[in-house]
Amino acid sequence: MAVYNVESHIKLEPDCVSYTTPGNLGIFYCLSGQRLVVLNIWRDDNPEPQGGEDRFGVLKEVCKGSYSLAQQVVKRAEEEGSSLMIHSLTLVNPPRWSRGRIVLVGDSAFCLTFFSGQGAGMTLVASEVLCKAIKAMPDLPSAFSNSEKQMRPAITRLQSRVRALAAAYLPTGTVAFHTRNILLRLTLRWVVAYYHRKGISEEIMVAQ
Ligand SMILES: Cc1cc2nc3c(=O)[nH]c(=O)nc-3n(C[C@H](O)[C@H](O)[C@H](O)COP(=O)(O)OP(=O)(O)OC[C@H]3O[C@@H](n4cnc5c(N)ncnc54)[C@H](O)[C@@H]3O)c2cc1C
Repeated sequence: MAVYNVESHIKLEPDCVSYTTPGNLGIFYCLSGQRLVVLNIWRDDNPEPQGGEDRFGVLKEVCKGSYSLAQQVVKRAEEEGSSLMIHSLTLVNPPRWSRGRIVLVGDSAFCLTFFSGQGAGMTLVASEVLCKAIKAMPDLPSAFSNSEKQMRPAITRLQSRVRALAAAYLPTGTVAFHTRNILLRLTLRWVVAYYHRKGISEEIMVAQ
């Protein structure tokens, strides 16, 4: 994923728009003062952050053949000397969230990536579960392991969900891309609403 902000006179309606092409997703947010924040997300089998010194080179290659807005703003950002970050969207999944008196919470323990739209929510839930466990058990390693036991099943379900969502957001080839678009148009709104409600209900169930 690449993120940067750039001066732009392009007026977006609504304030946030996204475009998908096979294997590439661009999200554009309008800021005040005629600036745009741009996220570009693409598939890459290499889990390491890309680009080194030539990050704009990597991004231009990614946006080659993409919609013109993507190419236009990358060019503008490079001319402007905008600060560009490239990072892999990794589903963090260590075998344990704690060792001795050290405990991980939030993205460092179970990053759900931005595809889920629930990372911050689950971080708050996990923090609450952890605090309650510490309050109930003065022995820290037991409190950590108990809160992990409570959170793990929901996180595992949400991470499987994120893998499916990522595939839907970033279909690989042209056939997969058009199939996804047709299915999305045919899918009833309540099915989509049900799918998202189910994810949110995980947060509520674990917090209770
Ligand atoms: C583009 C995008 C969109 C998202 N949209 C949503 C959404 O709609 N809903 C949602 O619920 N979640 C969303 N998320 C996910 C959400 O932002 C994260 O899951 C959440 O912020 C995780 O919280 P955290 O406290 O674990 O980590 P962070 O919020 O990343 O906090 C970690 C902090 O540690 C600091 N830090 C790092 N290294 C060091 C160091 N060595 N020393 C000192 N400080 C350090 C960092 O600067 C940072 O401030 C989105 C994420 C992204 C990237």
